[in-house]
Amino acid sequence: MDPITASVLMPCSSQANHASSGQHWQCISGCGACCRLDPSERGEAIEALNAHQRELYLSMVGADGWCIHFDTGGRRCRIYDQRPDFCRVENLMSLFGSPNQGEQAPASPSQANQDGQLDQRRGAKAPEQAKDLEQVAQLQATLELQAANELAISCCKQQIRSEYGGRGRVMRRFLRAIRQQP
Ligand code: SF4
Ligand code: SF4
Repeated sequence: MDPITASVLMPCSSQANHASSGQHWQCISGCGACCRLDPSERGEAIEALNAHQRELYLSMVGADGWCIHFDTGGRRCRIYDQRPDFCRVENLMSLFGSPNQGEQAPASPSQANQDGQLDQRRGAKAPEQAKDLEQVAQLQATLELQAANELAISCCKQQIRSEYGGRGRVMRRFLRAIRQQP
């Protein structure tokens, strides 16, 4: 089956579910649970949007609470390639935040290298420090990926449970899918 929607508009009140470690998030076909946009059920998602995104979001809410672009029969997004940025899972962490935000770590390995070069000019143990900082940056990137994965899994479970039930076919398919290696 074709992939379905990949909206991040989910009530992500929970932090990442650490029980999901070892699982790999993926969107499944025939779901679309996160395309139900009823504002009364999506307070937190709407809160996370900026003014322009919020206006667009509200303009997409259909009379039945589902997105006007969602094909409820086929359970697929009719504008998948043109869907808004807030419907893209890669934006999940920027919308709902990273547990690592605010920590003092180099922005990137190249930043770490620059820091190392500065230290070198100061006569410090530059190569070792640059290497350490690079490893810290890599570790941080890995942790952020893991956090995003766990957050996405947690949000999908929450949304699927709410729309189709916690023991229904969609949930079982989702759980099967995330157990597979990417
Ligand atoms: S709830 Fe998750 S699995 Fe279902 S359509 Fe949305 S992103 Fe995909
Ligand atoms: S635009 Fe597409 S992905 Fe976004 S909520 Fe609507 S149907 Fe879902």
